Amino acid sequence: MHRQRSNIDWDKLGFEYMPADCHIQYRWSNGEWDDGKLVTEPYLHLHIAATALHYGQAAFEGLKAFECKDGAVRLFRPAMNVRRLNCTATRVCMPSLPEELFLNAVKRVIQANRDYVPPYGTGGSLYIRPLMFGSGPRIGVQPAAEYVFLILVLPVGPYYKGGLQPVRAIVLDDYDRAAPHGMGSVKVAGNYAASLKPHKDAHDKGFSIELYLDAKEHRYIEEFSTSNFVAITNDKHYVTPESPSILPSVTNNSLQQIAGSMGLTVERRPVLFDEVAEFCEVGACGTAVVVTPVNEIVRGDTTLRVGPPEGCGPVLQELYREVTAIQYGEEPDRYGWLVDVD
Ligand SMILES: *Cc1c(COP(=O)(O)O)cnc(C)c1O
Repeated sequence: MHRQRSNIDWDKLGFEYMPADCHIQYRWSNGEWDDGKLVTEPYLHLHIAATALHYGQAAFEGLKAFECKDGAVRLFRPAMNVRRLNCTATRVCMPSLPEELFLNAVKRVIQANRDYVPPYGTGGSLYIRPLMFGSGPRIGVQPAAEYVFLILVLPVGPYYKGGLQPVRAIVLDDYDRAAPHGMGSVKVAGNYAASLKPHKDAHDKGFSIELYLDAKEHRYIEEFSTSNFVAITNDKHYVTPESPSILPSVTNNSLQQIAGSMGLTVERRPVLFDEVAEFCEVGACGTAVVVTPVNEIVRGDTTLRVGPPEGCGPVLQELYREVTAIQYGEEPDRYGWLVDVD
């Protein structure tokens, strides 16, 4: 069922699954990837003993394409995603993807679904979800002999319709997201499974997001379940935790570069939870939202207020403005982040 571009209500889009015309699918066997094909059906014919299903041998990515001010569609830093996907693949013994194959796949699937790219000015974008998993059968625990790499796309709306809305976060000391030498630094499917229950608990208590501390001591800040932690200090430092169990966020990396060129001092280092009291702005950053301001962090009986009670602090607001202006081609692509789709 092909939808005409004019039939999608761009103003009503959120961050929810919606079918597009097709996805692109590649298969790996006998040591190589095939040439890939566009597939209309949003279903897979999958072996019941596929390692992805039983043992979580699966990696995913998330990136966006934007219709820019000049009408061209551009990707935001896709090379970062294929490199990260390959780190994830290596960690769970899956084959890596040539960067060219990845980029080509992303372009092909977008061109085939061009009508789903939200028009410039609606604030939306095309969300791109690459996925790789073990599709071959195993019962003993070992890597599959066959893999699928696919990319699905869907239009998403601006996360914030009426400006950046702050959320409340909670530290749940009964849960950890990732162990020190575990899989926190890669984007495996299971990391999100691990956060479903704590996320539900946080939600039931009235919090939008949960903040994880280091699993060993619960003294250092790691990240939120699906986004990195960033903070701004009084003396204009951009502070973000460094730890081997944090997922390296492309958004965080981009914000750091912009912060640096705005004259902020960028600090990537272990960050004690006790430092929260000194931060004047805190945010959660990731591709889906760019940055969500956090104005309250609760841990046990303690409530820490950060940033203005309403809206977003000025520094995070400016970083948000700058990165989105680059994405939509409203400001020069001075870092060379955009890649043409056509
Ligand atoms: C994907 C992800 C992020 C955000 O990364 P971006 O590249 O900025 O989208 C942050 N934390 C975790 C745990 C993630 O899986």
